[in-house]
Amino acid sequence: MSDDARGQLATLAASLRVYLEWQRDTGAVGFPRRAAVTAAATATAPAPTTAPAPAPATAPDRLVRLPQLATEVAACTKCGLSTTRTQTVFARGNPEARLCFVGEAPGADEDAQGLPFVGRAGQLLDKMIGAMGLDPAKDVYVCNILKCRPPGNRRPEPEEMAACFPYLNEQLALVRPRVIVALGNTAVAALLETKLGITKLRGQWKLYRSVLVMPTYHPSYLLRPSPQQIEAKRQAWEDLQLVMKELGLELPRRK
Ligand code: URA
Ligand code: SF4
Repeated sequence: MSDDARGQLATLAASLRVYLEWQRDTGAVGFPRRAAVTAAATATAPAPTTAPAPAPATAPDRLVRLPQLATEVAACTKCGLSTTRTQTVFARGNPEARLCFVGEAPGADEDAQGLPFVGRAGQLLDKMIGAMGLDPAKDVYVCNILKCRPPGNRRPEPEEMAACFPYLNEQLALVRPRVIVALGNTAVAALLETKLGITKLRGQWKLYRSVLVMPTYHPSYLLRPSPQQIEAKRQAWEDLQLVMKELGLELPRRK
């Protein structure tokens, strides 16, 4: 190749990179909506589980029904947590995102603000999302198994999870992300109907209603000092890199 041709190629590559970064930063190419990815996704997705997949929600369904569902949740009295909550906590982020994070239940900060993952664990979650090169407000959708805070942040009871799960199920069917990241044991137990712990399941692709699920550690666990803490953080980052690979996301370049 002549020096001239090589130079032109380098310029082309550089401008393409800048273009892609700009698109990613504005939320376009980093997250092509269904049309571009559906064919490839169907071709490579693992075999469906027994649960029938709901028909994909259209954008109007999603944008009309999700706020209605949030209003229904706000009035819910299906379990005892309705008597101790300050308010319900439905979701934050972008309902059109290709990536959804599912946690356990609101804590004190979330109960006070009415938004999921706004306390310490939420700050770490946003850092993890940022490390993936994503914007927590534009590129992901964040919600929980339970919509109301268990008093004293105790573990959710099985009856509470059973009462609340239909809300999450409909929420996920409407958002219909390409990938769900299940954060910690409660999310994994509810979505994957398994008794296996997160240590056994993390890092392996699973399916919830034919949507890919990546189980990983809950950010609260990663914040808790323990002999395993450093290794767990490394593993969580490995898991998120698998998610990035699946979504065709490049590692952000260091600035
Ligand atoms: N932990 C969770 O699982 N969810 C939140 O919203 C906050 C902390
Ligand atoms: Fe209803 Fe879920 Fe709140 Fe229980 S936790 S009251 S089921 S919204």
